[in-house]
Formats: sequence, C-alpha cells, structure tokens
Amino acid sequence: MSLVLALITLLTFSMISCNNDNEEDEMPSRPTISLTEVGHENSKIAYPGDDLHLEAELLAEGQIKRIDIEIHQEGGSNKIVELSYTSGKYVGVRNTTFHEHLDIPADAPLGEYHLHVTVTDMYGQQTTAETHIVVEAPL
Ligand SMILES: [Zn+2]
Ligand SMILES: [Zn+2]
Repeated sequence: MSLVLALITLLTFSMISCNNDNEEDEMPSRPTISLTEVGHENSKIAYPGDDLHLEAELLAEGQIKRIDIEIHQEGGSNKIVELSYTSGKYVGVRNTTFHEHLDIPADAPLGEYHLHVTVTDMYGQQTTAETHIVVEAPL
C-alpha cells in the first residue's frame, strides 16, 4: 500500500516538474535590438532644433508591446527626448525596422548624451540598447 502511495507521489511530482519545464519552454526569447543607424549615416551627432534620424532592427518573439526612447545628458538627469510607442505599426509585431526622426529641442545644451531604446514584449520582458551621441552646434 505504501509503495503504491509512494509511486503515485513520485508520478505526481514528475508531472508537476514536466509542466514547469513546458511553461519555461513556452516563454519566448527576450527582445533583441540592433541600432543600425543613429544620426545621418550613423554619425551619432544631433543638432539642437533639428531631428535625429534613428533606425533599429527589432526582433521580439513575444511580440512588441511598447518601445521607449530616451535621450539624456551624460552624467545628468536632463532628458531632452522621452518618447513611448504603445500603439501603431511597431506594436503587436515580432520583427520590424524602427525608423523615426526624433525632435531635438532648440535649447538642448551642447555636449555628450546617452540614447536608450527599450523594447518590452507582451510577456513583460525588456531589453535596452544604448549608445553615445553628441549634440553639436548646427553647421
Ligand atoms: Zn530617417
Ligand atoms: Zn544612460
């Protein structure tokens, strides 16, 4: 009798662990971001009062839920660009080419900045890509 119980217990445990394994397998891989072009011809230079061309290849097996863009001054919290895409052509897809022109404020101080691109999928998994850009005086 106790052997049967032990067997049932063992079977139950192995079924539970199998289910857990399956759930893990069903979780899609995290989104990936490849910043292909930041600024004209990937110059990584932006100008106050002008727009910054930004192109990235996005891949999200779990489908894109939102994209957040931020440009902030290096070593500071001064954000000159803060944008979220939560609807439109980029949302609900697995694979897309992100291409937008970001408005740089005319009063943005010149200097070194960070650009962050964060992709969140439908499962809440996030990936951030970041790069260094420079805001220079217009030619
Ligand atoms: Zn462009
Ligand atoms: Zn940063």
